[in-house]
Amino acid sequence: MLTRVGFLLFCLALGAILPFLTVTAQSDISPKAHDLHFSSIVVDTHDDTTQRLLDPKFDFGIRHNDGSIDIPRMREGNLSAIFFSIWISGTITGPEAVKRAMDQIDVVRELPVRYPKDIALARTADDVRRIHADGKIAALMGVEGGHMIDNDLGVLRDFARLGVRYMTLTHMVDTDWADSSTGKSTHNGLTDFGKQLVHEMNRMGIMVDISHVSDKTFYDALAISEAPMIASHSSCRAICDAPRNMTDDMIKALAAKGGVVHINYHVGFLSQEFRNADKANPDMGKAMQEEIKKRCGENEGCQLTEGDKITREYVAQGKLPRVEWTKIIEHIDHAVKLVGADHVGLGSDFDGANMPYGMEDASHLPQLTNALLAKGYSAGDIQKILGGNTLRVMEQVEATSKRMGGQP
Ligand SMILES: [Zn+2]
Repeated sequence: MLTRVGFLLFCLALGAILPFLTVTAQSDISPKAHDLHFSSIVVDTHDDTTQRLLDPKFDFGIRHNDGSIDIPRMREGNLSAIFFSIWISGTITGPEAVKRAMDQIDVVRELPVRYPKDIALARTADDVRRIHADGKIAALMGVEGGHMIDNDLGVLRDFARLGVRYMTLTHMVDTDWADSSTGKSTHNGLTDFGKQLVHEMNRMGIMVDISHVSDKTFYDALAISEAPMIASHSSCRAICDAPRNMTDDMIKALAAKGGVVHINYHVGFLSQEFRNADKANPDMGKAMQEEIKKRCGENEGCQLTEGDKITREYVAQGKLPRVEWTKIIEHIDHAVKLVGADHVGLGSDFDGANMPYGMEDASHLPQLTNALLAKGYSAGDIQKILGGNTLRVMEQVEATSKRMGGQP
C-alpha cells in the first residue's frame, strides 16, 4: 500500500515519465507509415474546435493540454485540412440561430488573419491541395444543422458565399423540414421544402451531409441529390447500434452514388460495450451533465472539452468501459469491406465528443496510417481514406454546382 508521500512521489515520477511515453508511442510508427502519412493530405470533415475559437483568449497557435486541436498538434499529426463545425443546439432557431452561426463563421474566417503563416481558408479541393503545397493548413467550414438557415434559402446561399462547404441537414432534433435520427419523426423524412433545399445545396456547391439525420431523411435526400453526399461524422451501426451510425444498407446506398462515410471517433458511436454501459445507467448521464454545468456554466467550448475529461474520470473509476483507438480501425475496415476504400474517410468529432484512449488529439493521427498498413491496406487506398476521397467528392460537388449554374 502506498503512503501519502509515496503516492506523491509516484505521481511526480509518473509526470516526469509521461512525456517520454508519448515519444515512445510516436516512435511505434513504422518509417514506411511515417513517410506515407506525412506525404499525404489528411482531411478531417468534422471538428467542434470552433466553440473554443469563440473565446478571444483562446490561442489556436499554441499547444494546449486540453482539447484535441490546435496548430502545433495538427502539425504533429499532419492534419492538413479541417472542416470547422458551425454548430449551435437545434433547439435554438430563428434569427438568433443565423446570428450565432454568422459569429462562428466570422471566427473561422479570422483564423488566417491571426495565423497567416499556418492557416488559409479553402473553398475547393484545388484550394486544399494548393494550401497544403504551400505548407499551410486548409480551414474549411460545415454548418452542423439546417436549423441555422432559419428556413430561408437566401441564408443558405449566403453561407455558401462565405465559404461553407457542407451542411448537415439536421442536428439532434427535427427541423421544420427534415427528421433527425434522435428526433420525433415529425415529417417522415424530408418535406417538399427540404427537397428544394437539397437541390439548392447542389446548385450552390454545398455538400449534403447526412450525419445526424433519420434513416428516412437519408434515403429521401439520396434519391434527389444530384451530387454525391457525405456523412461528415458517422460510424457503422453494425458494430455499434447507435441511431446516429449508418446501417450497412445506408453505407452501400451512399457509396453507390459516389458518397463517403467519414468515421466518427466518439466512444459512444464506436463501442457497443460503452453504449450499453452508458444506457444502463441514465442517472450517471444526468450526474455527468450536472458536473459539466458546474465546471463550465453556459460556455459551450468548455462543456465539450470537460465532457471528454469527465468521461475519462468515470472510466478511471470503473463506471464506464475503456475504449481503445483501434476501434476506429475496426469501423474503417468494416466500411471498406462493404463498399471499398473509395468511400471511407475521417470525421473525428474532435473537441465535440469523447475520444478513445490513444486518440486524444490530432497528433495521434499517424497511428491510423500505421495500423492500416499493418492490416495490409495499399498506400493508395490509405491516402484515399486519409483525405483523397473527401477531395474527390468536393470536386464532384463543384462540378455539379457548375453544371447547375451555381455561383462560384
Ligand atoms: Zn455531430
